Amino acid sequence: MSHNAANEIQDLQFFGEYGGVNPSITDSSTFTFMSARSMEELFEIEREGCYLYSRHTNPMNAYLGHALAKLEGTEAAHVSASGMGSISTVIMQICQSGDEIISARTIYGGTYAFFKNFLPKFNIKVKFVDITDFEAVKSNLKENTKMIYCEGISNPLLEISDLEALGKISKENDLKLVVDNTFSPLVLRPAKHGADVVIHSLTKFINGTSDTVGGVVCGTKEFVGSMIDVNSGAAMLLGPVMDGLRSASILKNIHTLHLRMKQHALNAMFLAERLEQAGVRVVYPGLKSHKDHELITKLHEPEYGYSGLLTIDAGNHERANTLMELMQEENIGYLAVSLGFYKSLFSSPGSSTSSEISDEEKATMGLSEGLIRMSVGLDEDISRTWKRLKKCLSAVGMA
Ligand code: PLP
Repeated sequence: MSHNAANEIQDLQFFGEYGGVNPSITDSSTFTFMSARSMEELFEIEREGCYLYSRHTNPMNAYLGHALAKLEGTEAAHVSASGMGSISTVIMQICQSGDEIISARTIYGGTYAFFKNFLPKFNIKVKFVDITDFEAVKSNLKENTKMIYCEGISNPLLEISDLEALGKISKENDLKLVVDNTFSPLVLRPAKHGADVVIHSLTKFINGTSDTVGGVVCGTKEFVGSMIDVNSGAAMLLGPVMDGLRSASILKNIHTLHLRMKQHALNAMFLAERLEQAGVRVVYPGLKSHKDHELITKLHEPEYGYSGLLTIDAGNHERANTLMELMQEENIGYLAVSLGFYKSLFSSPGSSTSSEISDEEKATMGLSEGLIRMSVGLDEDISRTWKRLKKCLSAVGMA
């Protein structure tokens, strides 16, 4: 049997109510019971195919969760209204007051802010470390450490987490390894390398049409079940519910994810190579010059390349802004946060998606003020895009 996630998703058969090729959308927040006793039973024991109330789960969200579990090779998955909805509920599910988390220091700014500013309210402490330094990870382990948290490919610095090594440390110390795989669906399959929980912001590559926010938590049946337990589940009780109509549209988009990821990666590699040849400071995991190139080459699923994100260092904030404005004028893409769209998206993380991180911490992690993050689009003719980009780079004296 093939272990290619795209094949497994393709093989799913969800017939609609009248034999539709797409599953029927159940547009209901609540579900009826023919007997009062069976309603009582469902509160006590979950039954496959039986639905109670949509905050718990509903058929459309269950279909989408099923496909995403295939994507990550986990037993189960639960979708939510945003990536942050998934991240925050996973943390609240695993940690209690007094617990500690060891987190990579280069992570999405929203997650960083949640860890740094919000979790202290619940007496949960986060130690930010260089996740590539295993000694630093180990020396920060304490009796009350519950979790190692990282991103497969980090936002925005594109560092690679050594999932196998971190998985081993987690197992040895009875911790959960939680990996945000938003930047690398299909490219990395963290559960295969030892992750216990895999999270995505569906808002990005997985949906791919920049028309909705969404999130997912993938893990064992036991863990995902605990998230929606009616009495103690963080997803159930905090309530970041994905709307069923949105689930339906995301599910349809997943069926082109494999094609899109290949094209994003081809285009990003093309631009990264040209940028490097032109002497621009570019970071892309597919380049041999990337510090973790060998590691990701060992971990990734080769047919999907190295994903679609690269960074360019424009040297300073002013020049980064001018360059991005020119890039938008030349119709290379949009000056916008987020990623995974058909058109390229670019922003300066220091002043946008990572603005929550203090200047001092940005300096330690190497997040410079001239950094531009570019999510490379699905352009049919990427050499045409490169010509436009070269024009913009020469206008600001970078090529
Ligand atoms: N994780 C990563 C790596 C992200 O880049 C983002 C958003 O930019 C999130 C999580 C949060 O996702 P959402 O915006 O869907 O809540």
